[in-house]
Amino acid sequence: MKQNDLHKYPLIWRKDDFFIKIYCSIPNIATGILLTTSRTAFIIDPGDGILRDLNKDVGAETIIRVSDIFISHGHHDHVGGVWSLLTYLSVLRKRSPLSIYYPKGCAEIESIHKAFMSVYKNELSYKIILHPVDQQKQFTRNSVRIKPFKVNHREPSADGNTSIEIPSLGFKFFYDTKSICYGGDTAFCDNLVKFAKGSDLAIIEAGAEDETTSDLHMTIEQASNIGRTAREYFLVHVPE
Ligand SMILES: [Zn+2]
Repeated sequence: MKQNDLHKYPLIWRKDDFFIKIYCSIPNIATGILLTTSRTAFIIDPGDGILRDLNKDVGAETIIRVSDIFISHGHHDHVGGVWSLLTYLSVLRKRSPLSIYYPKGCAEIESIHKAFMSVYKNELSYKIILHPVDQQKQFTRNSVRIKPFKVNHREPSADGNTSIEIPSLGFKFFYDTKSICYGGDTAFCDNLVKFAKGSDLAIIEAGAEDETTSDLHMTIEQASNIGRTAREYFLVHVPE
């Protein structure tokens, strides 16, 4: 894979029936990831535009198969598409339950869910099950083993002078003999180094505006160094 191709959207990776595609509605702003196997479909970090991208690309047949949503953290570029996705699944008359995994304490997901249920609870065709993740125990969904791990993401404080740590996770997905590590948004952290290493694919953010230092995101150099410990890697969230 050429260095220039590492962050051109959409990013696609496939090994047999283990498939992942990363969309981005506005370059570097809204992430949306579709992960599928022959048995299931997951969405990871449905940012704004995910419904449009999925509809255009894979259509309702795949969207209705989505069994689980994984949220790395509550920033708008990672959760902005949740409401429309939940609504559309009901429009499609989805019957099977939908699980949402998110970092415990992520107020955005719980607020969206609460507001959504207050509007649609009487007409919703499917059940939504929230799974706040606090212990980073692994679990299995439709033959995919998922290992959530804590990362270190922050946001600027209201006065802009400091930053505050927010609940944030990365996820490693194991299927058949392959694994994909998604780090979400994070500053350089040991956990990401540990879980990216040896993965068949690592998806690593390189969102630092300033290539010298950032406590919110990683520089391209930091992200590439971690990415190179996996067999293949993509860089996401790269400023243009
Ligand atoms: Zn973020």
